[in-house]
Amino acid sequence: MQHPAPSAARDTGGLFGHPRGLTNLFFTELWERFGYYGMRALLTLFMVAPIAAGGLGFDTRTAGVIYGTYTMSVYMLSIPGGYIADNFLGARAAVLWGGVIIAAGYFALAVHSPLFFYAGLVLVACGTGLLKPNISSMVGSLYSREDGRRDAGFSIFYMGINIGAFLAPLITGWLAQSDAFKSMLTSWGMDPARSWHWGFAAAGVGMTIGLVVYLVQWQRLADVGHPPAAGAPRPWGKLLGVLAGAALLFALVRVSDTNPAFAWIRYGYVVVPILAILWFGSRNDPSLKRFAAIWVFSLAAIIFWAIFEQAGSTIALFGDQLTRLEILGYKFPSAWFQSVNSIWVITLSPFFAWTWVKLGDKQPSSPMKFAIGLFFLGLSFLLMVPAAQLTAEGKVSPMWIVGLFFLQTIGELCLSPVGLSTLTKLAPGNLVGLVMGIWFLAAALGNKLAGVLAGEFTATDAKALSNFFLHQAGWVGVAFVALLLVTPWVRKLMGEVK
Ligand code: GLN
Repeated sequence: MQHPAPSAARDTGGLFGHPRGLTNLFFTELWERFGYYGMRALLTLFMVAPIAAGGLGFDTRTAGVIYGTYTMSVYMLSIPGGYIADNFLGARAAVLWGGVIIAAGYFALAVHSPLFFYAGLVLVACGTGLLKPNISSMVGSLYSREDGRRDAGFSIFYMGINIGAFLAPLITGWLAQSDAFKSMLTSWGMDPARSWHWGFAAAGVGMTIGLVVYLVQWQRLADVGHPPAAGAPRPWGKLLGVLAGAALLFALVRVSDTNPAFAWIRYGYVVVPILAILWFGSRNDPSLKRFAAIWVFSLAAIIFWAIFEQAGSTIALFGDQLTRLEILGYKFPSAWFQSVNSIWVITLSPFFAWTWVKLGDKQPSSPMKFAIGLFFLGLSFLLMVPAAQLTAEGKVSPMWIVGLFFLQTIGELCLSPVGLSTLTKLAPGNLVGLVMGIWFLAAALGNKLAGVLAGEFTATDAKALSNFFLHQAGWVGVAFVALLLVTPWVRKLMGEVK
């Protein structure tokens, strides 16, 4: 049973009057994301660091390709991960095994060897594919479809994600990069150039803490995330199909990356969802119609992440090269900009959770929240247009980036937790894992597009840079208007789901 009956929704024993299972999932995901963002913060730096400094000595392009492929795979493997949970393991066990595989991956990265490096990346990507969609779908299963706490529950869960994302780079970065820790290693008779691997090991410790939390609080999950009934068919053939589909998709994306003659495949990231929307939307079966709505949300999410996920590229470069790295006389490393988004999520989430509960039935519909999300995303890049123009006169204030993240985070909180909540509601009970897989596929493609778009970044031409931001803001504006126009139709497609 995926959605508890209204009586079960009375469980208020967890965080902030939410179901008890939320406490478990909140802390488990906090630690999983601690590992994910803690390792991600080091990954590129480790690959490009010279061999003498303990790195892999890759050039920036190679590192960029590995980074892009890794972050895309992590989310793309959510499709088979969701399918395996729906049809074989159940979400609960999928999260457990996913966590074990992820931890093994980080500990592999703790070993100084290229073989362990690649094996570690593959393990983390596979494990995350099992864990990430299914922990999200279990949050959804804690609430009945009608439960007014549902969006608020996802906002709280999302806050946990960002507490992990905020803390992790501070710790793994300190271990990997600080002189203080390097001299500690020297004083212990160890090689200071191996500090990177301590950072990766810290990610593994984080995931291990997450697993302990998960097991200790197992009982709190009550009846969510069980495997399909013993007699239910186990569709091995279809599983192979899903795996082959994911592999094909992966290959297509890689070809579009590496062979300029196939760069046009990238248009498919937008065109294929549109075709899916039209096909599903024209069906008579209401549950197929819901898939049209699922694809509308996913397409909006692709566009959202394509801009938002430039935080680690475009915005990191803008921060590093075009911004005064000083606040009130205090100098700070440019990597700190990476924590600003999480700080905003942590400060703004309670406000959002409270607002959704307060508005109750009067809250905007989910497609409308998505449109608001795109609106703020567009504003964030519009804000960078004058900032980019000002770079013609020298470095600009760090407050531009703080402002950018403020606007983006408002957008993110209208879209990302709401998307999780809405899609778990729209998914037919036995397909909730698969639908989460589609949602994270959107994140995968968005991450990929973000990499493509960031390739146009320039730090040396203020006019071109302001156009860079303006054009992207313009396209987001088009997506915003399009979503507003289809909102009444999407509401119809969603049936009784709000
Ligand atoms: N930052 C969020 C997370 O780590 C959302 C990521 C995504 O869906 N692209 O879960």
